[in-house]
Amino acid sequence: MKTVFVDVDTQLDFMIPSGALYVPGAESLIPTIARLNRFAADHRIPILSTVDAHSENDPEFSIWPPHCVRGTTGQHKVAGTLIDKYSAQFVFEKQTVEFGSTAPFLAEIERLGADRFVVYGVVTEHCVRSAASGLLKAGKRVEVVTDAIRSIDEQAGAQVLSQLHAAGATLTTSTAIAGTN
Ligand SMILES: [Zn+2]
Repeated sequence: MKTVFVDVDTQLDFMIPSGALYVPGAESLIPTIARLNRFAADHRIPILSTVDAHSENDPEFSIWPPHCVRGTTGQHKVAGTLIDKYSAQFVFEKQTVEFGSTAPFLAEIERLGADRFVVYGVVTEHCVRSAASGLLKAGKRVEVVTDAIRSIDEQAGAQVLSQLHAAGATLTTSTAIAGTN
């Protein structure tokens, strides 16, 4: 079974306390996510890294404070989530939360030709949900790494996890996926 790891939006604006749309506690995930990405690279598992890439006047900024504007530092991925000298980390740029059900994302999924997708990153109830739901609707096996995701609204995050589980996703841990080193 071919696997792809899906590293959702691990960008400075979301992941560090000085970020423009900081997800509380997200910085504590960085070592775990770095470990998952390294594990993928070590095992020649492709990584699909989604990133927000907004224009300065993006319509999304009527809902959220400006974040991840193309060309700003905050739009960059956290250093530890980028794998050097590894040709199978694919960066997928997106502008909307509902990217998971869009044709470009689904085309990227099909291009990767995998049937199992291990999903982690931020934000649980927004872009992690979107990616996981899109994958499930595409008939893929989805495993969500519960200690490598973070919500803004804890209750909403918990609700999304139970919805994803009901829709067929497996809830797993970074240790189960990648061991402890
Ligand atoms: Zn955004």
